[in-house]
Amino acid sequence: MKQLLILGAGTSGTMMANHLNKVLPKDSWNISIVDQEETHYYQPGFLFLPFDLYKTKDVKKKIDKFIPKRVKLINEKIERIDKDKNEVVLKNNTILSYDILIVATGTNIAPQEIEGMLGAHWHKSVFDFYTYEGAKNLRDKLRTWKGGKLVVHISEMPIKCPVAPLEFAFLADSFFTNKGIRDQVEISFVTPMSGAFTKPKATEALNYLLEQKHIKVIPDFNIESVDGPNHKIMDYAGEEVAYDLLVTIPTNMGDPMIKRSGIGDELNYIPTDKATLQTKIKDNIFAIGDATNLPASKAGSVAHFEAEILTENIQRYIAGKELKKEFDGHANCFIETGHGKALLIDFNYTQEPVKGTFPFPGVGPLSLLKETHMNHMGKLAFKWIYWNMLIKGKHIPFVSATMQTSGKQIEETTH
Ligand SMILES: Cc1cc2nc3c(=O)[nH]c(=O)nc-3n(C[C@H](O)[C@H](O)[C@H](O)COP(=O)(O)OP(=O)(O)OC[C@H]3O[C@@H](n4cnc5c(N)ncnc54)[C@H](O)[C@@H]3O)c2cc1C
Repeated sequence: MKQLLILGAGTSGTMMANHLNKVLPKDSWNISIVDQEETHYYQPGFLFLPFDLYKTKDVKKKIDKFIPKRVKLINEKIERIDKDKNEVVLKNNTILSYDILIVATGTNIAPQEIEGMLGAHWHKSVFDFYTYEGAKNLRDKLRTWKGGKLVVHISEMPIKCPVAPLEFAFLADSFFTNKGIRDQVEISFVTPMSGAFTKPKATEALNYLLEQKHIKVIPDFNIESVDGPNHKIMDYAGEEVAYDLLVTIPTNMGDPMIKRSGIGDELNYIPTDKATLQTKIKDNIFAIGDATNLPASKAGSVAHFEAEILTENIQRYIAGKELKKEFDGHANCFIETGHGKALLIDFNYTQEPVKGTFPFPGVGPLSLLKETHMNHMGKLAFKWIYWNMLIKGKHIPFVSATMQTSGKQIEETTH
């Protein structure tokens, strides 16, 4: 029997287990998956938890519920990959041999990378919302916070779901307005980028919203340290921003297991071919989702598109065929803007977000780069789609893995 081993049972790993369960012959392939957690978290819900818009039960379910019976789930921490021996060593010293390895260990916050970020103030006046604990503690804080300077801050790029910090600022505006204390809260958005978002066209659309919601943008802020006792953040150019409540996205990094295995870059991301998803480490090692170094967004939607292409490439690899160079960096992200509205953006490695309709050309019902209530309903529906279709590897009708140009106002380039 041949062994296919998946590391990580988050969004990407769970999708791959479900896809491969359907296509790998049972009489010649064993499939195993390893994760340190017993819980599968719906991370997009961490945005809503702090504002009491979701309950904890909306964002966590038992991990084994989504792994097919045929796939062996191993609940243990991964110590390292030994690529030369085609083996993975677990923390309890178990050794797992593989013929094909898929790395899907994601990315996580690394607040220890910023001087002074951790300390007595962590989860007291300085919060993250990228972890379950962070989002829950922030919810408890916001329930009683009386107002002051709220600073929403990005430490450095890349981060997973790059629109989430902006969405947090928009939802904060909506939350404090509904509470009747918006005039007592000053919201600033502090970013190392030169604008509110990574893509210039989307930044244009978002700037208008930031102005409308009285959210001050402080760009080009490269954080050096946090002064917890004096409630301020400092950047390398000597600029200081004071806060009463700091909601920060710390540096994001791949799992330390990647470093221990000696296969990652300086942020522990795995060098991966951006079109085939085969790693540049070894031919029989593939990577997917946030764990890769691809220049695509680190998002569940991206992992979903990658999973369809990777499933085909694993089959091709087994059959000795050339891999399909098909992944185009396709991302499809809702941007919650508060007050029951949202934007939708659809883009890939080369095409920036543009106006138009999605998924049906001219019909929608979703509008691209435009704030609508229908888009907000789409964002809320994503939770159901995630738990019931996406991670179970079911095809989502009318949404293709590569970006479609029909129905979009793509500008002609002149040569
Ligand atoms: C606040 C927030 C909002 C978001 N909103 C959206 C959104 O609206 N739309 C969207 O598409 N995406 C969104 N995302 C991003 C999305 O959740 C991630 O991109 C997606 O989960 C990536 O999947 P992954 O499988 O690569 O990593 P993960 O889902 O993080 O899974 C990695 C798994 O690997 C396991 N693991 C790691 N290291 C080890 C080890 N050493 N031993 C054992 N197990 C290990 C972890 O326990 C985890 O289960 C959001 C993320 C956040 C934080």
